[in-house]
Amino acid sequence: MADDRFQAIVEEIYEKFKIYGVTRKEIESRLKLLLYEFKVPEEEAKKTIINGLRKNYNIAKSDLKPPLTKISEIEPNKWVSLKAKVIQLWEPNSPAIAQTGLIGDETGTARFVVWAKANKKRLEEGKCYLFERVVIDEFMGLKSVKVTSASEVKEINENIEVKEEKAEVEVVGALIAIQQNSGLLQSCKICGRVVKAGVCIEHGKVETNDILRTRCVLDDGERIYDLILNEDNIKALTGIGLKEARKLAEEHLDRGIVLLEIKKKLLGRYLRVQGELRFRSLTANKVEFYRPKILEEVEKVLREAEA
Ligand SMILES: [Zn+2]
Repeated sequence: MADDRFQAIVEEIYEKFKIYGVTRKEIESRLKLLLYEFKVPEEEAKKTIINGLRKNYNIAKSDLKPPLTKISEIEPNKWVSLKAKVIQLWEPNSPAIAQTGLIGDETGTARFVVWAKANKKRLEEGKCYLFERVVIDEFMGLKSVKVTSASEVKEINENIEVKEEKAEVEVVGALIAIQQNSGLLQSCKICGRVVKAGVCIEHGKVETNDILRTRCVLDDGERIYDLILNEDNIKALTGIGLKEARKLAEEHLDRGIVLLEIKKKLLGRYLRVQGELRFRSLTANKVEFYRPKILEEVEKVLREAEA
C-alpha cells in the first residue's frame, strides 16, 4: 500500500477519535499490524480498529461524529458533517419538508433539505452553519444534504466564502420536470412572496398580484439545471401569457389548469436557453424550442462515408 494511502486512513480514524485522547501512533501501529502482518483488507482493517478503539475507550457509536467534509467531496449514502453557508432558500413543495434550498462552501454547492420531522430552528439566507451528522443522497444527478432528527445544526460565527458559480451561458437540454410551485400563482403585494389561498407567511391575509412563472428541471446530458421561466419566456414557448392564463383559469374555474397546459406543451421538449447561471439556477433571458439539424448531420455523415 502506498504510504500516503496508509496515512490517509490513519488521519481518517484519528479525526474521529482525537477528542478522546487517541494518538496517531496508536492507530498507526494497529493498522500496520492488521495490514502487513495479518494481510487484512483495508476496509476490514479500518472497521476492526474503529471497533477496538470504541471498546477500549468506552465510546458509544452515536458519539462518533462523522468527519468534517467539503461539499465537493460528499458522496451519496454517507453521513458527514460540514460547514456551509445558506445561499438560497426555496419554497418547499411538500409538507414533509421544513426548508429547502442551496448551501455552499469554498469547494462548491449542494441542495439541502430539512425534514419537517427533524424539528430544527429555521435557517436563514446568508448565514453560516455547522451541519453535523447529515446524510447525503442523490436525486437526478444532484447531490443533496438531508437534515434529519439525528442531525445537529449550529450557527457558526465565521464567514464561508462560497465558490462563485455565475456565468452567462447557452444550454441545450431536455425539460425533464416541472416543479409544483409553477403556473398561475399569486404573490403578496407587500413582499412579492408566492402565497397560498391569499395568506403570506410573513404578512398574513394580503392582497395579491397574479404572476406566471415556471420552475423546471433541464437536463443537457451532463448535468441538470433549475430553470426559471418568467411570463415572457412562457408566452414565447406556449402562447400562454398572463392574460391567456387568467382566461383559462376562469373558463375552467381552476388555476391548476394553467400548469397542466404548460406541462403538456413543455415536458420532454428540447430547449435552447440563453441566460444567467447562478449556482444551479438558470434564469432564462431567451428561450426557444431546439430542433437538431438532423438533415445537415446526415449529409455530413454521407459525405464522410464517400470520402
Ligand atoms: Zn408578504
